Amino acid sequence: MKNYKVQTKELFEELCMEMKIKKPPFRISGGGLNAFERFGRIIITKDLAKMISTNYRTVRYLLTHELIHLKYQDSKTRVARLGILAFSIPEWIPFEHRVKAYTLLTELRASIEGYSFNKYKEIDEIIKIENSTKDPKFFNKEIAYKYGYPSTEQIANYASKYEKLTEELAREVLNDFCMVRKIKDADKDKFINKTLARFRVLFIDNRKDNL
Ligand SMILES: [Zn+2]
Repeated sequence: MKNYKVQTKELFEELCMEMKIKKPPFRISGGGLNAFERFGRIIITKDLAKMISTNYRTVRYLLTHELIHLKYQDSKTRVARLGILAFSIPEWIPFEHRVKAYTLLTELRASIEGYSFNKYKEIDEIIKIENSTKDPKFFNKEIAYKYGYPSTEQIANYASKYEKLTEELAREVLNDFCMVRKIKDADKDKFINKTLARFRVLFIDNRKDNL
């Protein structure tokens, strides 16, 4: 039996090939149950990698999710995109809302595409995978939004139904975000349109670079 590090590295290479993504630098390190993408490299914690023999689908999904962030250059372009958003939205809307709304879209996109790519489309299975690494507090939408994440339930509902984050879907989620975070109706449309415009422009640019 191969050790977990070899197994995880092999799975990672396999996913890069299947997703047609040039293999980025990859490391297994640190504690906790987490995987993340920073400046073009992907890191998975040791404890998460060790789950490969017991929770294969969780590890596979989370690696896919991070590769999708990489595909769209979510962390690389984050600062530039947020900088532009800072000047294009009414200044009385707190900067925090812009950051969180923006992150919410990148997370939802990576989740929907990550589950779709792996064909994990059953609501119960998605919830099980989410719960295997996430704090149960992420079931609460108000808390999830505070972190710039969709709730576990939203991820399960959207990822089971859709293959991609469409504009219509993004609008629906941003509308809900505005309601939950109490962004005034008068500001809402501008806020949503500006957030989407920024997201979409770079979304298209990135696709040209990567596909
Ligand atoms: Zn993510």
